[in-house]
Amino acid sequence: MVRPKVYITRKIQDEAVARLSVTCDVSMWNEENIPVPREVLAENIREMDGLLCLLTDTIDEAILTNATKLKVISNYAVGTNNIDTAAATKRGIIVTNTPDVLTEATADLTFALLMVTARRIVESSDHLRKGEWKTWSPLLLTGMDVYGSTMGIIGLGRIGGALAKRAAGFGMKILYHNRSRKTEAERNLGITYVELETLLKESDFVCIMTPYTPETHNLIGAAELSLMKPTAVLINTARGGIVNEEALYHALKNRTIWAAGLDVFEKEPISASHKLLELPNVVMLPHIGSASINTRNKMAEIAVENMSRVLANQPPLYQVN
Ligand code: NAP
Repeated sequence: MVRPKVYITRKIQDEAVARLSVTCDVSMWNEENIPVPREVLAENIREMDGLLCLLTDTIDEAILTNATKLKVISNYAVGTNNIDTAAATKRGIIVTNTPDVLTEATADLTFALLMVTARRIVESSDHLRKGEWKTWSPLLLTGMDVYGSTMGIIGLGRIGGALAKRAAGFGMKILYHNRSRKTEAERNLGITYVELETLLKESDFVCIMTPYTPETHNLIGAAELSLMKPTAVLINTARGGIVNEEALYHALKNRTIWAAGLDVFEKEPISASHKLLELPNVVMLPHIGSASINTRNKMAEIAVENMSRVLANQPPLYQVN
């Protein structure tokens, strides 16, 4: 029997590669920190039955033109905005992702980023390390209260719901906005549905948890930021393009909002000269939402399982299209 050919676009866990190699001929871009060049991907995809890719790989119409044998694109992420799903569907290619296993780790990171930003923890640590700490002072590095404040979650899906549970433990009032109403979650989590405008006006912490789609592109721009309280904090661990970075820069610089915590950016990776890095009131992380060892292992397992199932003519665990 002819074994299916699979291409993996980055060095992933050995165990995952070994599992896939039992049934498939696997080739891999064997680099940990360098994305596969587009021309290498375009060349390799010609012969492949399966592609296991990351959110750093743009799988668009042009790449798929070469993919004449491809049956499955298994994305090592829950978000699939890096893939032209419509173009894949048109070619009969199944797109899969890795939701659920990363929900709690991403909610943890989101809440951690919220606390770090609210209580100025990075600035405080830098202050100490630079030898600037002279004395305890009533006004030194004062931040925003987290306990008992109001959280507004935009996008109450898996991660948004997990974030709400954490917020409840901190005695927070929880507002949410979603394209569809989640009445069961309202009952179970004691959360309140509001229009986006109300959420922006009333929340102390605005947390973005939607996918990145044409509808959510620049969902938060200058007009939306101007509705937020001057004491409010914006947290984005979803995708960069949901927030207009230029508008955010001005809101933070002019202090029309108090601070922001970002794990994602319009164009990743950002350079050390990125404009937002000039500002003291923003905490920026290199897209590490799901980056716990266990979670990343599980994501690899699910990505491999999705791939193996489709290549064995079975339904994958998680199908996007
Ligand atoms: P999910 O369960 O699909 O939840 C997304 C929620 O957003 C759904 O409730 C959806 O509403 C809502 N939504 C979609 N479009 C909307 C719009 N235009 N306006 C308002 N709400 C909208 O996804 P998830 O597993 O929670 O993941 C959410 C996103 O987080 C992913 O797509 C990914 O981009 C991001 N993420 C980032 C990291 C990281 O490393 N920083 C890690 C994991 C995930 P419906 O219920 O109506 O569909």
